[in-house]
Amino acid sequence: MSKVERKKWVYAFEDGDGRNKMLLGGKGANLCEMTRIGLNVPPGFVITTEACLAYLADSQRQLPDGVMDEVRRHMTSLEKETGKRFGGGEDPLLVSVRSGSAMSMPGMMDTILNLGLNETTLAALIRRTGNERFGYDAWRRFVQLFGKVALGVPDALFDEQFEAVKTRVGVKQDVMLGADDLRDIGERFLQVVQRHTGRPFPSDPYEQLEIAIKAVFNSWMGKRAIDYRREFKITPAMANGTAVNVVTMVFGNMGNDSATGVGFTRNPGTGENQLYGEYLTNAQGEDVVAGIRTPKPIGEMGQEMPGIYTQLVELRNRLERHYREVQDFEFTIERGTLYCLQTRNGKMNAAAMVRTSVEMHEEGLLSREEAILRVNPAHLEQMLFPRLDPKHKGHALAAGLPASPGAASGQAVFDADRAEALGKGGAKVILVREETKPEDIHGFFASQGILTSRGGKTSHAAVVARGMGKPCVAGAEGIHVDVAMRVAFVGDQVIKEGDVITIDGSNGQVFRGEVPTVEADFSPSLVKLLGWADAKSRLGVRANADTPDDAARAIRYGAKGIGLCRTERMFNAADRLPIVVDMIVADTPDERRAALDRLLPIQRADFIGIFKAMAPHPVTIRLLDPPIHEFLPTERQLEDDIARLNDLRAVSRGMEVLGEATRGGADPRLLALLHDLGDTRAVDGVLTRKEAILRKARALREVNPMLGHRGVRLGITYPEIYTMQIRAVLEAAADCVKAGIEVHPEIMVPQVCTAQELNLVREYMTVVQNQVEVTYGVKVPCKFGTMIEVVRACMRAENLAEVAEFFSFGTNDLTQATFSFSREDAENKFLPMYNERGILQDNPFEVLDVKGVGRLMALAVDWGRASRPGLKVGICGEHGGHPASIRFCDSIGLDYVSCSAPRVPIARLAAAHAAISGGGAVDKAA
Ligand code: PEP
Ligand code: MG
Repeated sequence: MSKVERKKWVYAFEDGDGRNKMLLGGKGANLCEMTRIGLNVPPGFVITTEACLAYLADSQRQLPDGVMDEVRRHMTSLEKETGKRFGGGEDPLLVSVRSGSAMSMPGMMDTILNLGLNETTLAALIRRTGNERFGYDAWRRFVQLFGKVALGVPDALFDEQFEAVKTRVGVKQDVMLGADDLRDIGERFLQVVQRHTGRPFPSDPYEQLEIAIKAVFNSWMGKRAIDYRREFKITPAMANGTAVNVVTMVFGNMGNDSATGVGFTRNPGTGENQLYGEYLTNAQGEDVVAGIRTPKPIGEMGQEMPGIYTQLVELRNRLERHYREVQDFEFTIERGTLYCLQTRNGKMNAAAMVRTSVEMHEEGLLSREEAILRVNPAHLEQMLFPRLDPKHKGHALAAGLPASPGAASGQAVFDADRAEALGKGGAKVILVREETKPEDIHGFFASQGILTSRGGKTSHAAVVARGMGKPCVAGAEGIHVDVAMRVAFVGDQVIKEGDVITIDGSNGQVFRGEVPTVEADFSPSLVKLLGWADAKSRLGVRANADTPDDAARAIRYGAKGIGLCRTERMFNAADRLPIVVDMIVADTPDERRAALDRLLPIQRADFIGIFKAMAPHPVTIRLLDPPIHEFLPTERQLEDDIARLNDLRAVSRGMEVLGEATRGGADPRLLALLHDLGDTRAVDGVLTRKEAILRKARALREVNPMLGHRGVRLGITYPEIYTMQIRAVLEAAADCVKAGIEVHPEIMVPQVCTAQELNLVREYMTVVQNQVEVTYGVKVPCKFGTMIEVVRACMRAENLAEVAEFFSFGTNDLTQATFSFSREDAENKFLPMYNERGILQDNPFEVLDVKGVGRLMALAVDWGRASRPGLKVGICGEHGGHPASIRFCDSIGLDYVSCSAPRVPIARLAAAHAAISGGGAVDKAA
């Protein structure tokens, strides 16, 4: 290689490119950058990752030609710059040697400090500082670190000697050792090295330096580093080889005008704009880490060292102005001079991220877009739900799927009625079920949270809990619930009714007892940031909300409408369920209509409440969807009830017989009582009804109800049901119009696969709309649309759009239909294994499968708009609240996303991210 082409292996901090982390490593690049902007960084240089790779590629493990020549040249420059000498002179130059790759890999390799010490330089150091103890302390630290890190001598061998000296002297703590003791320790350490390596400890500083550089390079292929890269999926494209940083030592332990510490440019816990951190006077960084002395809050430095404190505040300001990001930095003060040793972006909780984003924009440090992009939408979850106190250290009793975020504690109860009874009495309860059914809804209202042992993230329990903003852990398969015994078993542990448990719906854990929680925090900063986000977004954000209360809550979270109102939820309230059962059990359309007539005013009142809460935003109401047998008790439950009623009937008959047999001389009052108890009419009445319900439940039984008689199929079989619902919506709308309330109802049909189905329901709507407009004497605005949740609907989108004025993707069912994975079972059967083995990257019920389901959606949007330009399209499946999925929805031109109310803020921020950084499919192999 000619001289001109020769590779440059070493960069002085003044010369390195602060952006080139691949070449200089993160730490090295940052040291160069800090030097370039004029911060007081101890002088030093970086040996590149290219040198590391060339060294590792060499079978002899020799440093590439020229590396040590360049190192020597840079050491000479350091000598000039510092006025010290490496390996000699009256003021010896000591350096630290550290690794640093493009990705931070904490703990990959320890740092070697005080390199350059030998007999001569140690004596000079002691003379220069006039401090024997300091000198011997620096020396013994160096021998141990170098011995361990560069020569591979086990720590235990050093510790043995250290302890032996402490025992001899009779002290417990290192700080109580004197200069002579430390010298003794240093000498013992030299012997340890000699014994273990068979060679004397290297005394030539350049030999020390070369060995140290090779050791750092070797550490890249050490087990610790390889494991770390595998665990955190660090590929060579992200970090290839480690650089070596050689930095002039500065000492924070040179007296009371010296100190060491760490600082945050703002408070990482709250985001407050105030220098934050801690420091120790007359100490080395190691002492802070070892916890030998308790550091002081940084504010105290204002009194203790006012001059230095002013410099530190100036350092903080310069760091933030330059990096335009909160910095976490390390500093050392050596005899009144402040040095910055390292800086990196500060890690903060969500509340602090939001506050600092808003304030940094207001201070002119960040643009609005930057402030918005700086906050990860998914992290907002931390602020929107109560969570377990992070300081809590208990062990989980069981784990399931994190189905609805938030944490809650309460007494375990095993059925909804009991939950309601206890909840109404003011008790905090957690409803624990194998799985939940629509008829459990009153139990949800009364509970703090829901725990199920079966079902996935789109199971009934999960979807309902998310909609209500209550925590839910679903599919905790290790828990066996025995409702009859009112207990649950977890391994050999028993949870009895009334035992307090805590669930964490954010990570799926279940604890025994009450675990303290931290409350949600919808701060003024968050409100402001979300306002900015809305102004940048193209996508609208609506909420899935089923009741007037849900609607009011959705507004508080910033929803601009309801994208899905699941009407079946209203059918389950305690005052309606018996009427719904009458409707189902009815044998004739007239009987059915009679029951529906009783439901109509109740549903109408619900819709009026929702419209009022949401005005003037649109409300999409979905007609009845689930198979109707879900409103009936299970066949088993009914059979049990009937068996008990028959027993009771036999007892009653017995009373009657007893009464007749003793009629002669018995007390007339007793005879009257026996007569009454023997009257079986009340029992007969209940029995007849139960038997009728059982007959119906059997008749409605389906092998695969989710693919059976549900959705629009139901609406066509029983037109009276959909007609009643449409009437309730339109009459409620007419009522509001008359009261001067702006309403935009949108009627949506579920499970549609042909345009003929839609045409039929559209006809019901036309008839009812005409009647309502005549009766109320007002025009009732109403849009008519369809859910897109079966594959055929996507393929026939062009035809459907001729009838439908809007589409809403039901991606829960569409994912189920596209994969043929049951949404109830897949997540706790084979999906985790699929994820683990890389067959699927994500859970498709949580993260929209862009390559499959997403493609169907994109086709449906294009084809739908081909026949109806301007067709409004949204999404109301659970994916509507997931940031990456929202980005995809933006990219294919959806008009809005709709998700459970507490996720609305996350969706608002994600929608802004999509608009600012451009939508687009997340390209993941699957
Ligand atoms: C869906 O299928 O995505 C949807 C919103 O409907 P549900 O979850 O009620 O079936
Ligand atoms: Mg659906």
